[in-house]
Amino acid sequence: MQSPDPGNKPLLHRLAPARFSGLLRGTVAAGIALLAGYQLASQIADLSSARPGAAAQADARPVAEAASSPAPQVADPFETLVLDVQSGDTLDSLFRDSGLSLVDMAEILQLDTARQNLRILRPGDTLTVRHDGGAVLEIERDMGIEQTFVIKRNDAASGAGGATAPVFSTELVSLPLERRMVTVAGRISTSLFESAAEAGLSEKAVMKLAEIFAWDIDFVRDINRGDEFTLVLEELWRNGKKLGDGEILAAEFTNRGGRFTAVRFEEADGRAAYFSTDGHPMRKAFVRAPVSFARISSRFNPNRRHPILNTIRAHQGVDYAAPTGTPVKASGDGKVIFRGWKSGYGNTLILQHGGNITTLYAHLSRFAKTSGYGSRVRQGEVIGYVGATGLATAAHLHYEYRKNGVHLNPQTVILPPAEPLRGEELMAFQATAQPLLARIASRQTALAANRPTAR
Ligand SMILES: [Zn+2]
Repeated sequence: MQSPDPGNKPLLHRLAPARFSGLLRGTVAAGIALLAGYQLASQIADLSSARPGAAAQADARPVAEAASSPAPQVADPFETLVLDVQSGDTLDSLFRDSGLSLVDMAEILQLDTARQNLRILRPGDTLTVRHDGGAVLEIERDMGIEQTFVIKRNDAASGAGGATAPVFSTELVSLPLERRMVTVAGRISTSLFESAAEAGLSEKAVMKLAEIFAWDIDFVRDINRGDEFTLVLEELWRNGKKLGDGEILAAEFTNRGGRFTAVRFEEADGRAAYFSTDGHPMRKAFVRAPVSFARISSRFNPNRRHPILNTIRAHQGVDYAAPTGTPVKASGDGKVIFRGWKSGYGNTLILQHGGNITTLYAHLSRFAKTSGYGSRVRQGEVIGYVGATGLATAAHLHYEYRKNGVHLNPQTVILPPAEPLRGEELMAFQATAQPLLARIASRQTALAANRPTAR
C-alpha cells in the first residue's frame, strides 16, 4: 500500500558517514593523528581489556569495533566502545565503568559545548567512544538522526601555538538526509495499529496521526471497522537505508462517516501546525479523549446500566478502560477547582475551563504533583493517573464534560473553531496544500476501487 514516488526529488544528497569516517572528513590534522596513533598502538598491548572494569563492561554493554577503516584487512588499532545509556547513568559512571580516563573527562567538561551536550543523558542514548587504553580520542553522541555531536582530542601540533590550547575540541556535525515523500492509505479492519502496520506505517506515525486529529476524533473509543486513512508522509533515508519517518505533511481520516483533512503548514513565525483544507487550525479548545490509546470499555449511553449501582441511571460520561497508572491528560487548558475524594467517583479532579465548561476525571489512582487545587493546567498536561478508586469494578477513567452544568457527550460536542489563516498566509497555505491534497485524492481513488460494495 506504500509507494515511493518516483518523481520525488530528494532534497538532500547522501554522504557516506560510516562511524568516524565522516568525522575525520576534511580534518587533515585528525587524519594524521589517526595514522600516528595507529603506529603507536600497534606496538602496545590492549590495556583496556586487562582492566577489571573494562571486562565487566563487555558483559553489561555491547562493545563494537569501528568498521569504517578504508581497508578492511587493517583493523582500527584503537578500541571503540558503544555505551548505551541506561537509567541512572551519568557521564562519570560511564567513564568509571568503562575504564576511561577521568582526567580526560575533566578536560572535556571544561568545554561549554561539551557540558551542554553531555550534561543530560537519557536512557536509550548512545555514546560512541574511541580510545587508546582508556585515553579518549573521540566521542560521538547522536543528536537526533540529523546531527552528531563530536568531541575530538586535538593533535599535539595544533596546540603548539600556546600552552593553554585545549586538549579537546567539539563540533556539531550535520548528517544530511534524503527526504522521500510517500503516500500511504488503508482501511481499518481490526485495530488502527494493525491496519496501519499492514499499510506500512510505523507505530510512531500512527501516534502522530492520532495527535493530528485528537481534537476531532476519539482514537481510544471511536475507531470503527471501515474507517479509512490516507496520509502523505516524509521518510528519512541515508545511504539507501530508511532511518525513520519525518513529518506527516497531510492526512485524511474518515470516521463516523465524517471526513477530516489536515495539512501541515509552517506559519510566519516558523512554527508548524496542522490546518483543515479551509485554513482553520486543527487545534481546538478540547481534545476528544483525555487518555492516549487504551482499550474500549463502554460507549456513551444515557440509558446504560451501571455495573455497580445496578440501576438504570444516566451514565453521564465516557469510560476509558486503561491499566492503573495510565496518565490522564487535561482535555483543555483550565484551572483545578476540585481535587480529592468524591464518594462513588473516588479520587476526582475537576477542571474549570473558559465558556463555563467543566471537565471531571474520576476513579484516579493518584493525582499528578503539578495539579494541585487552584493550579492552572495546559491541554495535554498529565493531571492524574487511571485507577479504580470509588465505585469501580476495574481500572478505568470516568470522564465528564459539562457546559453550564449540563452533561454533554465529549466525543461529539461541537467545539468552536480557532481563528483561521487569512490573507497572504492563507494563500501560502493553499499553495502548500494543493499538491498534497491531490496526492491524497489520487490515492483514495485507488482505495475506492478496492472498497467492498456492501458494508
Ligand atoms: Zn463511568
